[in-house]
Amino acid sequence: MPDAAITTDCLIAGGGPAGMMLGVLLARQGVKVTVLEKHKDFLRDFRGDTVHPSTIEILDQIGLLPTFEKLPQYKVRQLGAHIGGNFRKIVDFRGLKPFDYLSFVPQWDFLDMLADYGSRFENFDLRMRHKAEELIIENGEVKGVRASCPDGVYDLRARVTVACDGRYSALREQAAFKVTEFGAPMDVLWFRVPRQASHPNETFGILGAGHMMVLLNRGDYWQAAFLVPKGSDEALRKEPIGDFRRTVESVAEFLEDETGIPESWDDVKTLEVRVDRLDKWHMPGLLVIGDAAHAMSPVGGVGINLAIQDAVAAANKLGPALLEDGEVSDAILASVQQRRLLPTKIVQWFQIQAQKRVISAALAARDEPPDLPAFLRFLLRFRIVRNIPARFIGYGIRRERVEQAGAEKRSV
Ligand SMILES: Cc1cc2nc3c(=O)[nH]c(=O)nc-3n(C[C@H](O)[C@H](O)[C@H](O)COP(=O)(O)OP(=O)(O)OC[C@H]3O[C@@H](n4cnc5c(N)ncnc54)[C@H](O)[C@@H]3O)c2cc1C
Repeated sequence: MPDAAITTDCLIAGGGPAGMMLGVLLARQGVKVTVLEKHKDFLRDFRGDTVHPSTIEILDQIGLLPTFEKLPQYKVRQLGAHIGGNFRKIVDFRGLKPFDYLSFVPQWDFLDMLADYGSRFENFDLRMRHKAEELIIENGEVKGVRASCPDGVYDLRARVTVACDGRYSALREQAAFKVTEFGAPMDVLWFRVPRQASHPNETFGILGAGHMMVLLNRGDYWQAAFLVPKGSDEALRKEPIGDFRRTVESVAEFLEDETGIPESWDDVKTLEVRVDRLDKWHMPGLLVIGDAAHAMSPVGGVGINLAIQDAVAAANKLGPALLEDGEVSDAILASVQQRRLLPTKIVQWFQIQAQKRVISAALAARDEPPDLPAFLRFLLRFRIVRNIPARFIGYGIRRERVEQAGAEKRSV
């Protein structure tokens, strides 16, 4: 049984991209930090895979780039989509500085790398299979969480608590923050299909008649994301899996030889898409960041990277306060929201427009969707034009920088 009440400086609930990055950035500053992750490992398929230049830049700043480079990954410099039967290059990272690519890296490898890095610091305490059950609130101030683990339930008290528990955040609910929901027209069916040597090399999207699909090249298999109208999953699962396979094959014809996979509906996971945002991301003693503060649509694959930018901004503000006098005022917590709100609003606005104008239209279409307008096709012939979406997706708005030097001398 853990100690009845353990005290730390910063308690982070949730070991996803936001929580793990915040944890290691604070630890390298010398802050005593505890990260709780409810699962026993990071090995889950449905985590997004895209590590964008903005995140690669952060890894470079903390000296992790050489380690990151050794992870299994697939670098992409251009992205495109099959629209109305034609392949169009739309996003081009070439020429962007300092990094001109995005990497598809299994997220479990990425999070394992952060966990390994964190373990170099004696003040970094990662607790797997530890779930934050509820906030400890005293006189209107959050003082930590009640956590459960295989050995029982215990209180973990902290100077500041950061909720990084993702889009189903129980902590934000308990704090009764007001949530604005923006809705999404789709959910995503997530499954694997073997990849053959004859298959395409790229990672790409396909817009077909009434369907939309993204295929991520993971070496010997495709991670397939098949979009369906929101709420249609239950009815679909009543149909034989063979019907679903045939639909998939009609959208991505080169998969035709793979008959038999997915074998059953058990091999297909449904991911609910949500887009929402908290009006307020903080209260005394508590900050909320990442998807817990603003659930992101998969459009653009920016969610992980935005969560990491939040974590960098939070570490820049919280670290010095925790190290100097141990207190983190509500004004400091508010300053993290102030810094991250505008980039979040802008990215979500674009995601919502893409959901309305492209995804809804594609899912409702009876025929093959029309190709891009001629003037756009003309403009997209120029790399400088394709650089514009690449810069927006890859680097985002208001790029964060790790402000504090690391305390690597503390490494063990
Ligand atoms: C279908 C789909 C596909 C996506 N694809 C991509 C993509 O390719 N690229 C991309 O950048 N973004 C993608 N996104 C968005 C992306 O997944 C999120 O924006 C990003 O993961 C947010 O990171 P986070 O750390 O805030 O939250 P999460 O990644 O959700 O991490 C939260 C963590 O907290 C843990 N946790 C939850 N509750 C508790 C608790 N009470 N106690 C302890 N631990 C807890 C969870 O187990 C989890 O590990 C996708 C989203 C969807 C829906």
